[in-house]
Amino acid sequence: MKNGILFVISAPSGTGKTTILKKVMAQLPGLNFSVSHTTRKPRTGEQHGRDYFFVERETFEQMIAEKQFIEWARVHDNYYGTSIMAVSDRLGEGEDIILDIDVQGATIIRDTETLSAVQIFIAPPGLKVLEERLRGRNTEDEKTVLLRLKNAEMEMKAAKAYDYLVVNDQLEEAVETLMAIIVAERARARRRRTGEPVKMESVR
Ligand code: 5GP
Repeated sequence: MKNGILFVISAPSGTGKTTILKKVMAQLPGLNFSVSHTTRKPRTGEQHGRDYFFVERETFEQMIAEKQFIEWARVHDNYYGTSIMAVSDRLGEGEDIILDIDVQGATIIRDTETLSAVQIFIAPPGLKVLEERLRGRNTEDEKTVLLRLKNAEMEMKAAKAYDYLVVNDQLEEAVETLMAIIVAERARARRRRTGEPVKMESVR
């Protein structure tokens, strides 16, 4: 059976990635969201097992030691990781998977010979707009907002390494563009790395 497509999507915090992804997934059938593990505390409305698997640092470190992650990274002072379990079965069954991961995780996936992924970067129209959105969202304290803004500058520089860039200026346009990319990738006659079944292993 043909493997599904792995879509890696990154964006600086506050870009609107979650909103875009929810809209795209509601309109395009057959996309599965890979639920990551994190040591971050849940935000209001977030659910364990749906948005993230929220775990203690000890549990996360044990999972690292047991090589349960395809990739993991420290982002904004917390651990985040994609478990092999979250991805491998469904991908092998031909289902498309979306990884919402940061630029470090995307680099690991890019450098993994045995994985083929379509990498999409969602950018805000500018850092000023990002700051306004991040503050307007009101989910983080001042220290966290500043840390996320500082990281955003570094993350924007990484955008060049992705296959696609989507600028979230107008939400509906960004949604349309992302859907167009996914539809086009599904119609692709030839993938960059073909032939071998996707081999899932911990690379860190
Ligand atoms: P947030 O705390 O806002 O949910 O996510 C912070 C950042 O962590 C985002 O850039 C998000 O894409 C990234 N992230 C979420 N899950 C993972 C993961 O499993 N691995 C990596 N490397 N980054 C992740």
